[in-house]
Amino acid sequence: MSENVLKISGLKIAYGGIQAVKGVDLEVNKGELVTLIGANGAGKTTTLKAITGTLPGCKVEGQITYTGQAILGAKSFQLVKNSLAMVPEGRGVFTRMTILENLLMGAYTRNDKAGIQADIDKWFGVFPRLKERSAQLAGTLSGGEQQMLAMARALMSHPKLLLLDEPSMGLSPIMVEKIFEVVRTVSAQGVTILLVEQNAKLALQAAHRGYVMDSGLITMTGKASEMLDDPKVREAYLGEG
Ligand code: ATP
Repeated sequence: MSENVLKISGLKIAYGGIQAVKGVDLEVNKGELVTLIGANGAGKTTTLKAITGTLPGCKVEGQITYTGQAILGAKSFQLVKNSLAMVPEGRGVFTRMTILENLLMGAYTRNDKAGIQADIDKWFGVFPRLKERSAQLAGTLSGGEQQMLAMARALMSHPKLLLLDEPSMGLSPIMVEKIFEVVRTVSAQGVTILLVEQNAKLALQAAHRGYVMDSGLITMTGKASEMLDDPKVREAYLGEG
């Protein structure tokens, strides 16, 4: 049986009087790349924030277990210690640090120097653009390069689950393709990923399984390849039909 890394049951979240998430059930198993797609305002980012414990002042109901432990209400630093990594919308790299320094920051919970160096070499292999620019300040990178750096930095912590929030946002079509290529490569390395995306087509092409979110609810789930062929998904989310 596949090992469950993340399980969300009956999640409901309200911002004051606004019910942004009305009932979400979602699972990510070890080694899977799962995508959560849906239109603007569907509640995808809010769902991710519930996982990372970054919804101060919201009413949150339901259950979230991560590596078998209930984490709803856990502090973000405890989750980081337990190898949960999030690459947020807008990326958040340390702009005044070099690429190499950013990667070392990603490994700050570790003290295995040789392992850290091996990982830097490994991820520089996956992200050659970062290797070429390792001494450059992160703030001078393009948007796509910053997205790659944010991902590589998160990977330096050896995450048991990597949460990616809209990695393609604001990037040129060529860079979007590159980012998805990298997401696939990272997934092929065995990293477990939950990918939130508005670009449903590329997300479903990369993922093993998918969930569609609409107005705070999961309206569809299944194998990503089957969802790509589903007429309802094609019409509503792939602009076809
Ligand atoms: P997007 O792709 O645009 O980020 P999303 O699916 O991630 O969309 P959310 O950002 O989770 O959607 O937003 C879900 C709903 O909750 C929206 O109606 C939004 O206006 C509302 N919302 C989000 N953040 C807040 C907040 N801090 N206070 C009040 N309402 C909020």
